[in-house]
Amino acid sequence: MSATNVLEINPERLWETLERSAEIGRFRDVGLRRLALSAEDKQMRDQFIDWAKAAGCTVEIDRLGNIFARRAGSDPSLAPVAIGSHLDTQICGGRYDGILGVLCGLEVVRTLNDRGITTKRGIEVICWTNEEGGRFAPPMMGSMAFAGVIALKDVLATRDDDGITVEKALDAIGYAGPEPLGKRAFDAYLELHIEQAPTLDREKVDVGIVVGGYKTKALRLTIKGDTGHAGGTPMAMRRNALVGAGYVIGAVNDVGLAYAADEGRTTTTRIESFPNLPGTYAEEVKLTLDYRHIDQVRFEAMGRDIRAAIDAAAQKANVEIEVVEGWSWGSELFAPECIDLLRTTAKELGLPYREMRSQAGHDAYAVATMAPTAMIFTPCHEGISHNVKEDIELVRSVPGANLLLNAAVARANR
Ligand SMILES: [Zn+2]
Repeated sequence: MSATNVLEINPERLWETLERSAEIGRFRDVGLRRLALSAEDKQMRDQFIDWAKAAGCTVEIDRLGNIFARRAGSDPSLAPVAIGSHLDTQICGGRYDGILGVLCGLEVVRTLNDRGITTKRGIEVICWTNEEGGRFAPPMMGSMAFAGVIALKDVLATRDDDGITVEKALDAIGYAGPEPLGKRAFDAYLELHIEQAPTLDREKVDVGIVVGGYKTKALRLTIKGDTGHAGGTPMAMRRNALVGAGYVIGAVNDVGLAYAADEGRTTTTRIESFPNLPGTYAEEVKLTLDYRHIDQVRFEAMGRDIRAAIDAAAQKANVEIEVVEGWSWGSELFAPECIDLLRTTAKELGLPYREMRSQAGHDAYAVATMAPTAMIFTPCHEGISHNVKEDIELVRSVPGANLLLNAAVARANR
């Protein structure tokens, strides 16, 4: 690529598009509540499809509501270069998590239109269904089912807290599409995402090239005790499942603190207690927790410490605790050829970058099992995310968007 071939996105247009998105499902003034397959999610999907069609894309939707907006290449026999992320948010979400990645993909298409450029391979911009898991668990179910990592029928049968299945919710918003799941090939998949951690912001670097992830595993615990009278039952006789949960939550956090110096993380995210009423202590509590570490050996040690903490909590609270493993991913996620493409392109564009590992889950991990994949991170203010105060600066996001644009075009002309 010579300097004359360098392409640049239109920052003002990207920002206007982000601002329009930020109106759909606005929550607590500056945030978003746009849960997967909700009315707000439908409105945003409709808006995205309108934009994609106006930019000349053909739009296809699969059985799980994953949206594929394709800008044709000159050789339709070649697999496209895909760019994707998600438009759904957490219940107290920000305006940029996932959204920036999809809308940068749209901006890539619009920029190519401005310049009248036809790439050899098509460019496909993807919105994956339910990345966040804020309504239906597990997170990233659209991309995982697409890649065959989890089964479609299990996903369709998954219920939210009101008992509504994914299948029903898809029907309700009209996004159970006709395309079969997973029957698409990608030449490569690139995902741009805000970092959701403070490294780029603190180091004043605007581009992160993600070379892998933190080893991560989720655990689902069922804690079993007995109900009893909150007043009458002597303390020594109680088998209060909620107390067992309390001991687990504290101990698991202590494991995270013990590994914090070398980048360990533990988080208990969800608690469901039955019967969850005053006057009666709990018979059964379900917990969801996860742990993450950059180093495989330390990760395994964390896992052993967490298991020991769970056993100790069970004994102390006189309850039984069943542990089932949930989602997990490894540390070697991405294709060296795609990482190299990002490095080379960043150097050609004169963009300073930092190589890093992702601590969060992303749709790219599932897609990486079926297509060469890599990710670009852009800074977010103090690393705040999954919070309405999540914030970015346009000027610090544009370098990553330009890297995405030029890398996608280079790959699409291959
Ligand atoms: Zn995200």
